[in-house]
Amino acid sequence: MPEGDTIFRTARSMGRALMGKPVTVFRSTYPLLTRFNDDSPIAGQLVEHVESRGKWLLIQFSGGATLATHMLMNGSWHIYRHGERWQQPRFNMRIVIENSDFVTVGFKVPVAEMHTPQSLDRDKRIPRTDIDVLRPDFDATRVIDRIAAHALEEIGDVLLHQEVIAGVGNVFKSEICFVTGINPFCKVVALTREQIAAAVAAAQKLVGANVLVDSGNTIVTFGGRHRRTTHETDPGASLWVYGRTGDPCRRCGERIRRRIQGPDARVTFWCQQCQPMPDGSSVDG
Ligand SMILES: [Zn+2]
Repeated sequence: MPEGDTIFRTARSMGRALMGKPVTVFRSTYPLLTRFNDDSPIAGQLVEHVESRGKWLLIQFSGGATLATHMLMNGSWHIYRHGERWQQPRFNMRIVIENSDFVTVGFKVPVAEMHTPQSLDRDKRIPRTDIDVLRPDFDATRVIDRIAAHALEEIGDVLLHQEVIAGVGNVFKSEICFVTGINPFCKVVALTREQIAAAVAAAQKLVGANVLVDSGNTIVTFGGRHRRTTHETDPGASLWVYGRTGDPCRRCGERIRRRIQGPDARVTFWCQQCQPMPDGSSVDG
């Protein structure tokens, strides 16, 4: 699944291509979108805003409707010049939005819905803007409360709940736990409020920093002397723990562990030494 910062970048690029310009063509292979477009045509409307909310990409039209898409595992939005060759086969196309300069194509986008402002507010799956780590109106106190409410779940899982804190993906989950010294398998109830607050602050800092770095899909959280920010082919080289199974911890030299975690079986990396369980127990990895 794409990280929140990847969706954020996609939204920014889409915004540059579409915002403030009238749509010339709108089409979709989804009957509900086609029907909506037949009733109130998108062509002729301006794209007023493009934004990411967690892993959702939202495109707001001047007629008041918002197209909400979620990429899940395989979906993506591409931006082409007119006449440019598509990098995916035509049968993967689900949505096309064109203006006089660009053709944006949603390939294999599995979730795509038209919303009114009211239905958008009501929709529980699309994160509110104030729990998105990348938004200026991010409300850390609210997010700390939300995390604390998941007392009996492991912090590594809770950080991935997009309705609790939006924008943290699986890479950042492990990195956030490492930089705050929290064991990802620790239940939330065993953490202090200060620890939860530290994790939330780290989430904002790490995800935000990577958006600023803006170097394609490179994710950088390791700020030590081996720091590399661009042209790095080994994804683990710029990270503290993610993808570094068996390698020495950058802080203590202990070998980095790896374990499958949670109901969605996501892979988690950590250092036993730097991230002890509060009760002194150990987690095998
Ligand atoms: Zn360590």
